[in-house]
This record gives sequence, C-alpha cells and structure tokens, in this order.
Amino acid sequence: MSLPFAVIGAGPAGLIAAETLASAGHAVVIFDQMAQPARKFLLAGRGGLNLTHSEPLEPFLARYGPAAEALRPAIEAFPPAALIAWAEGLGQEVFTGSSGRVFPRGMKASPLLRAWLARLEGMGVTLRRRHRWMGWDKSGALRFATPDGELRFAPAASLLALGGASWPRLGSDGAWAGLLADVAPLRPSNMGFCTEWSPHFASRFAGTPLKRIALRFAALIQRGEAMITAQGIEGGAIYALSAPLREAIARDGAALLHLDLRPDLDVAALSERLAGGARGLSLSNRLRKQAGLSPVAAGLVQEALRGGAAAPLETLIKALPLRLHGTQGLDRAISSAGGLRFAAIDGRFMLQARPGVFVAGEMLDWEAPTGGYLLQACFSTGVAAAHGMLASCSADAASPHLPA
Ligand SMILES: Cc1cc2nc3c(=O)[nH]c(=O)nc-3n(C[C@H](O)[C@H](O)[C@H](O)COP(=O)(O)OP(=O)(O)OC[C@H]3O[C@@H](n4cnc5c(N)ncnc54)[C@H](O)[C@@H]3O)c2cc1C
Repeated sequence: MSLPFAVIGAGPAGLIAAETLASAGHAVVIFDQMAQPARKFLLAGRGGLNLTHSEPLEPFLARYGPAAEALRPAIEAFPPAALIAWAEGLGQEVFTGSSGRVFPRGMKASPLLRAWLARLEGMGVTLRRRHRWMGWDKSGALRFATPDGELRFAPAASLLALGGASWPRLGSDGAWAGLLADVAPLRPSNMGFCTEWSPHFASRFAGTPLKRIALRFAALIQRGEAMITAQGIEGGAIYALSAPLREAIARDGAALLHLDLRPDLDVAALSERLAGGARGLSLSNRLRKQAGLSPVAAGLVQEALRGGAAAPLETLIKALPLRLHGTQGLDRAISSAGGLRFAAIDGRFMLQARPGVFVAGEMLDWEAPTGGYLLQACFSTGVAAAHGMLASCSADAASPHLPA
C-alpha cells in the first residue's frame, strides 16, 4: 500500500488540499496543533465570511500587488467561480453584496465548516489534533509534539499550510518561520494604526464608527468606513491602505493620513453651508447642523482645532490631517504580510530545498486587502499545491528517486 499524504495545518488552505488529494483516491492525514480545526476561518465567519470577490480576474489579481504574477496560475486554475461552486456544493448558497464581495447567505463559517469536515471524514481523511509540527528528523520524517510525546511520520509528500501570524492564539502563530529558510519577516496587514487622541476624545468616541468617509494617503484615495479605537483608528477603509501606511511608518517613523468627512460635498459647497444659518451657533452646532457631520466627525474637527490646526473649517472637513505613528500588532490584525518567499518554491508550490514538501496559504509571502482576496488565495494555492503533490508522486512512481 502507498504511503499517505500529510497536510499540516487545518485552515482553509490545508483542508482544501486534503480534499483535493482525497478526491484523487489517496489516503490523507491532517495534523494541527490546536484542539479544533480552522479556528481563524470560524472567526472570519463572525464578520460574515467574505469568501471571494466578484470583480473581473485582472483587477482581482492586481489586489495581490507584487505577488500577483506568482499567484496568477493558482487563481486562474481555481478562480472565484470555482470557490463559489465548491461552497454551493456544500449546501452554502452564496450572494454578491453591493460592494461586489461574495458571502454565504447564512453569513457564517460554522455550517460550511461542519459540512466540509463531514465530507472529509466521509472520504476517509484523518484529522490528528494537538499535533505541533517541529521540523524534520535526520531521515527527513516529520516531527510532531503530541500530548503523548514525540511522533515521527514519513508521508508520500507533505504540505505545510501553517497560516500567517495574526491572531496567534487561534493557532497560526508564525513559529514555523524559525524552521524554514527564505522567510520575509511576518508583519501585520489589514490592521489598525496608532495615533494620539486627547483623553477626552478617546473616552467619548472609542468604538464609534465613522461612516461614509474617504481617506487620502499620498495619491491613494479610499472611500468606506473606519472605527475610532482607544489607541487610534481601524476598519475597512484603513485596512485597504494598511500596506502603504505600514511601509511609510517603517521608513519615516509616521504617516500623514487625510480624512474627508464629507466626500459627497466639495469645499465651495461646504463653505457656503458654513457661511449661512443662524448667527451665534456654537462650533459644535455649526459642524453638525450646517456641515452635516456626525458627532464623531465633528469631534475629530474639534480635536484637530484643539491640536492647533489653523485651516478654515471647510478645508479641515475635506482634508483632516491625522498623524499615524505606529501600527497595531499582529495580535488583532486580520492577516499578515511576509512569509515564505516565492523564490523558495517551484511552480508546483514545492520547496526547492526539500523535494516532497509543498507550501500553501497565508504562510506564503503575499498580502491583499480584505474583500475575499485572502481566502481566495488560500483556497487556490491549497488546490495548486495538492495538484503539485499528486504530480510529484506520479512522477516518482514512474522514476523513483531517494529524498535529498
Ligand atoms: C478577524 C478575521 C476576519 C477575517 N475575515 C476574512 C474574510 O471575511 N475573508 C477573507 O478572505 N479572509 C478573512 N480573514 C483571513 C483568513 O481567515 C485567513 O487568511 C485564512 O484563514 C488563512 O488560511 P490558511 O489556511 O493559510 O491558515 P490558517 O487559517 O491560519 O490555518 C493555519 C493552521 O495551521 C495550524 N498550525 C500553525 N502552526 C502549526 C504547527 N507548528 N503545527 C501544527 N499546526 C500548526 C494552525 O493551528 C491553524 O489551524 C480573516 C481573518 C481574521 C483574523
């Protein structure tokens, strides 16, 4: 009987790889260090589980920036339509929101995951929980720390799908970075930023959303929403700019973001509104009644004035400067940047330095904004790596070789 395949990491990348391998008729063992599989996938379900995005493939691929060409073959081979068909095959009908994002109708991950795990079990896939991968022994066998002591396992081929390093308490702690060569440092991505609020502003507005705003950083403009936090600001529009903001802070120590609190009005229209109305209105009332700002947006303008901003009100409302001096950490970032460099793997997602070992998912060196791009790349690379494993094993069967 032939050896089973090993998949290490029971997140979406590992589970879809296991399904692809089992569908081809192979025995598969999945290992994960946590007691429960796919903890981060379940957490993603709390935000509705944005599985993928409906935009055409070229703009879709452009979201991966410098990694787009490395990911292109995997995403073309298992594109958004394939991911949608797969989810629907598990009984999870999807819908496309007004932003083009695709979600399961139930807006949850748990029914999908339950159906998926049951399907894998039905295919004979074994899941070994609380097995922490620790590298290889001298013979090339995988080493695991388990509650019963160390286990060594020699598979036909193995897949590392260990995730990035955000939300480490859910299992993907990035500790694997110490076991592999050619890893770009793991950094937060799609995360919040730190700024200096006055105690008054922070205590009044932390946790308040800023709706229908636009953000400008250098030549980039992003419309959407953000959330005031005790330490700074986070949320969808901020995440979309998080990579360039993070790089600017690393380079210059700070980044200057501008908030447009009334993106639907131009400066002239705002100026006219602010000039009209009853005399003697307080500043707060002028901002709210004449400029139509929400209490938190008005609070931001007042915060800027207290900090010494001298521009006219209409200019501040259209371009409120916010100095970001740090990033929030990996603990609560949606994803991580950095990871195993594409130069370390071949076109089949196999480690150049270790034939028979494949890599997929967020642990590879790519990043993307939120919008379904993260899960799509995890699924597509999981499928591609599984096909690489199948191809390498049939090539080995045709002309056997000893592991390096
Ligand atoms: C709050 C939040 C919301 C999100 N929402 C979305 C969303 O709506 N849409 C979207 O596209 N993306 C979303 N994401 C991102 C998405 O969940 C991840 O990109 C995705 O889960 C990564 O999949 P993965 O399989 O590569 O790794 P993971 O899902 O991180 O799985 C890796 C697995 O490897 C295991 N592991 C790690 N190290 C070891 C080891 N040494 N030994 C054994 N096992 C190990 C871990 O326990 C884990 O189970 C969200 C993330 C967060 C935090």
